[in-house]
Amino acid sequence: MKPTRTVGLFFAVLCACLGIPRAHAEPGFVYFNATVYTADPERPRAEAIAVRGSTIVAVGTREDAIRALRGTQPPVGSDKWIDLRGRTMLPGLIDAHGHLAGLGALRVGVVDLAGTTSYAEVIERIAARAAETPKGEWVLGRGWDNESWDNPDDQKALPTHDALSAAVPDHPVWLARVDGHAALANRAAMDAADISPETTSPDGGEVLRRDDGSLTGVFVDNAESLVERAIPAAARGDPESMIRAAQQACLSAGLTSVHDMGVHPATAALYRDLSERGVLKLRVHAACPSAFAMRYFEENEPYRSERFTYASAKAYIDGAMGSRGAWLLAPYDDRPAYTEGERAGQPYTGLSVQEPAFIEALARHGLEKGYQVFTHAIGDRGNREVLDAYERAAKSTGRNLAAARFRVEHAQLLAPSDIPRFAELGVIASMQPTHCTSDMRWVEDRVGTKRAAGAYAWASLLNSGALIAGGSDFPVESHNPFLGFYAAITRQNAEGMPDRGWRPEERMTRAQALRSMTLDAARGAFMETFTGSLTTGKRADFIVINRDIMACDPAEIPGTRVLQTFIDGEQVYLAD
Ligand SMILES: [Zn+2]
Repeated sequence: MKPTRTVGLFFAVLCACLGIPRAHAEPGFVYFNATVYTADPERPRAEAIAVRGSTIVAVGTREDAIRALRGTQPPVGSDKWIDLRGRTMLPGLIDAHGHLAGLGALRVGVVDLAGTTSYAEVIERIAARAAETPKGEWVLGRGWDNESWDNPDDQKALPTHDALSAAVPDHPVWLARVDGHAALANRAAMDAADISPETTSPDGGEVLRRDDGSLTGVFVDNAESLVERAIPAAARGDPESMIRAAQQACLSAGLTSVHDMGVHPATAALYRDLSERGVLKLRVHAACPSAFAMRYFEENEPYRSERFTYASAKAYIDGAMGSRGAWLLAPYDDRPAYTEGERAGQPYTGLSVQEPAFIEALARHGLEKGYQVFTHAIGDRGNREVLDAYERAAKSTGRNLAAARFRVEHAQLLAPSDIPRFAELGVIASMQPTHCTSDMRWVEDRVGTKRAAGAYAWASLLNSGALIAGGSDFPVESHNPFLGFYAAITRQNAEGMPDRGWRPEERMTRAQALRSMTLDAARGAFMETFTGSLTTGKRADFIVINRDIMACDPAEIPGTRVLQTFIDGEQVYLAD
């Protein structure tokens, strides 16, 4: 859909004859007869946009578009005029927290266990994969969720490896839980990783055991690396095909930009290469894992282009709430004390995965070297520690924290007194609405009703002046942004339950939800100067969808289909 060379040449010659300056001479495209939501607070609605090259040159009425392209535009009816026949146009959607390689891996090798409804079904899928895999090679899977299994005995019990080991004895198997904060190994995997009942739990992690001391096969948070270090890189698939597969999935879902959490410097080099070769269409804002970040940014400048940036670091203060790794201010309601090991009987408040002092040192380094810091924080203690660490780093360096746009990733459970601190400090809350609707079934079991008032507190944060960058955390949740939009405005599951939504006072309005997935997500990556809204002068990143999500019945939103996706004015996806 870009002007062909011949047409370009024709117009260049024509313009030369007419004395029109070349820069303004190229014809553009006019997309008209559309319901346009711009996410631009100055002009939220429009019916047409004009695009020349990669840039939006007009947003408004058809007449505005004609005026902007005056003198260069072939007549209405030519192929430069695209009649959208009343369809809805949005800015390209942005996912502020995803894992592209993880999404790609599910399409090129790792067994997708999302949606399994029992442990038996998980085993069945893994055994089927093992049957077509040479003996001794690893079988990897991800996405199981014991909270969704129909287990008549104990809904919440984590699985034990025995049935899996019996069904798949000849392949090491490693299956990440849906949140990625716990994983299940079979016997062969534990053998391959030299794990025995004598293996101790590392700091910030737990090797789960039965009462008799034998291993259940489940490894939580930092303990996952005990097994992961034994997995050969090739078992996960080829990085370029994973990125290509993930990109395709994102473009067809209406995403034009993704903030990719935890990208190793070697993968960042691959991204840069793909971007220079024109293979990377998606705008990727990649964060370096904190384990490498300080050394990397000591030796390298933060890298920023419009297509790919490597100018941020991703750290973890705690684990996830599902596997009780979130770091809480007070003990869990459903596991108030350690039940085994030397700490048996002591209060259990979750895991501190990385020390607050480390987060502070990283934040200081980021402020000095000019890169952003993103820290995963789920529990109320974890969130407070991160805000404190950022604040101390800003004080000791004398730098402006708000200007550095540091973020808390997830910000799931907040103590009431910490909610206003996001706006006060200028820290961005990077939040994933579908986490709320997946977790709402058991959040109150974990933390009780009183603390749950600070869970996924979108409206409270927005009302306090905080900025929310919206995302999905794919492949933990689906990368489909319309599921996130639906969750944000309803706080209901796919069946429309609970009736008015879980803690409906914390819902977002549609305008807030759209903004979190466009302009404010772009701000979370310093990209709002050229994308994130349909505004004259910005890049032409937009999508056309089959229903008006700003006005339709909320129940119809999850079924929204993306018809076309454009980045830099180039059509990068067209539905068949
Ligand atoms: Zn994540």
